[in-house]
Amino acid sequence: MNIPPPVRSDDKYKESLIEVRSREEIPEAWRDTPIESFIMAQNFGWPIVSTGKVELLIATCIEFRYALPVPRMYAYVIRRASGRVIGSEFSVGYTLSQGVKYLVMIGHNDCGMSKVYEKAPSVVQAFIDQGWDPEIAEEYVSKQASRHAINDELDALQAEYIRLTNVFRKLTVAPLFVCLHDSKLYIPKWYAEEAKNLPQDSKVPTELIKNLP
Ligand SMILES: [Zn+2]
Repeated sequence: MNIPPPVRSDDKYKESLIEVRSREEIPEAWRDTPIESFIMAQNFGWPIVSTGKVELLIATCIEFRYALPVPRMYAYVIRRASGRVIGSEFSVGYTLSQGVKYLVMIGHNDCGMSKVYEKAPSVVQAFIDQGWDPEIAEEYVSKQASRHAINDELDALQAEYIRLTNVFRKLTVAPLFVCLHDSKLYIPKWYAEEAKNLPQDSKVPTELIKNLP
């Protein structure tokens, strides 16, 4: 099994992430919320106690090298390639109707979606093996690859954070990054700045909603 090096010693990530080494490093806005409990469970093994009131939605990648540290009755979960929820806004809306107030979105290092184009031929072959016509499989994969591909895991997380906070103006969104080497959570350095620039207007532009996939 391919486990990447720790992000703290990886040139690609080490300058861009803040390791959460104590409770004090958790941003003020996340304290005393299920976001804090989630980080403490993941990084320090604190037990999560379910109150029976589900206020947290977790969005992360389908990645098999990452297992969520949550018990039942604690959180809704959306797992999609790359962890971005674009195209799953209805699912988010449903969880909001059920009492969700916080969204934790987790990117990770060595994401397969940053290598979609190099993996495309084997994905095409997988569809062909399922009985798909080769030409149709090729066409489908090329269309989907452009939708799913990301250049850089942290940049993709940032763009999705900005997009989501525009689409859902009252939801508290916490962008996190998990290191596949040791499953520790980090906070992207750009978060502090981006969090100051959240849209002030409570009304979401109609065009933004109409253009959702
Ligand atoms: Zn991934």
